[in-house]
Amino acid sequence: MSKPRHVLGISGGKDSAALAIYLNDRYPNINFEYYFCDTGKELDETYQLIERLESYLGKKVLKLENEELKSSNEDPFDYYYKSFRGYLPSPQARWCTAMMKLKPFENFVKKDPAISYVGIRGDEEREGYISREANIQSIFPFRRNIWSNDVLTRFFNPENEKAVADYFKNYYNGKRYDRQLDILAEPIDFNRNNKTATEKALKQKINRSLDIGIPEFNRTVFEFLKTTEYPLATELDFELLDNEDVLIRDDIFRILRESGVGVPEYYNKIEFEVDGEKGEYARSRSGCFFCFFQQKIEWIWLYEQHPELFKKAMQYENEDELFTWVPNESLAELIKPERVKQIKKGHIDRSNRKKSKSSPYLLDILEGTERDGCNTCFL
Ligand code: SF4
Repeated sequence: MSKPRHVLGISGGKDSAALAIYLNDRYPNINFEYYFCDTGKELDETYQLIERLESYLGKKVLKLENEELKSSNEDPFDYYYKSFRGYLPSPQARWCTAMMKLKPFENFVKKDPAISYVGIRGDEEREGYISREANIQSIFPFRRNIWSNDVLTRFFNPENEKAVADYFKNYYNGKRYDRQLDILAEPIDFNRNNKTATEKALKQKINRSLDIGIPEFNRTVFEFLKTTEYPLATELDFELLDNEDVLIRDDIFRILRESGVGVPEYYNKIEFEVDGEKGEYARSRSGCFFCFFQQKIEWIWLYEQHPELFKKAMQYENEDELFTWVPNESLAELIKPERVKQIKKGHIDRSNRKKSKSSPYLLDILEGTERDGCNTCFL
């Protein structure tokens, strides 16, 4: 197997941009390849962020596109929208991500072994998209646990218990070694019908193992990988094994500001007023301006802050066919004055409830938005 490539997808969002800066500064010896899958429907702020990032990194962020688009003058989204006969993508039918994000990425990597760096933060509870291609291995540098679940599922599989115990011996001794053996011996059922219970048990094992020493745990996993076909199997060393950093949202904003790359403007809160009550809105994510994952209050933000884009989003809807961005409601209905008022009031109420639970971030208040969707679009 040849040496792995090191690839990092830039979505135009804050987390992947901060990850590129962080890795570039901290690991100058790794030759990162940055890429961006353009849908042609991003906000201008996304393209501006990528330009600033290129100048900070001193490297191009490669724009990936599928072969079939090369002879077309259309934006990627419009090209596929037509080929899907006006059928809008939705959380249940995400042809947009499959065609415009995953396909160009997998064509870019081809069959080469590759390490794909993913910007899921240490304060997030999700695994996110990881490629199912055997030649692509995901690494999560912002988390305490840098490994993907598929790797650790194999590592903690009872059939590997003896081999893993031997690897632990190289890095731990005395009580620390005994504790690792105890964790290893705890039963775990990898039966697919018990997915939630398995994930919980796996997470507990990972956390307890990491508590005993992060670099040692990473080195043990790295040794185990040498018995597998994962891309890292052929490496003599991997610089991130000793990384104990855990980066959370504050760190992301700090990295962006301190580097001079800056935070995309759409994250900035804007004040609004409804019936004398004050509220704030913003956009919570990068990605297409009409993304169906956005919350209704974000649609109102788009309508009021970028009316020309909102109008364009409306043009894709076909109410006769029930092709709407928001289930059971067209954008024309969404912007009726009474409905706008209702959405804004609902958002203020939700914000007040959440504030009392002490989150300082509007992004947290835009309920669940960060967890939805895929890493390739929004990180
Ligand atoms: S941002 Fe939303 S609409 Fe655009 S490709 Fe991603 S999931 Fe699809």
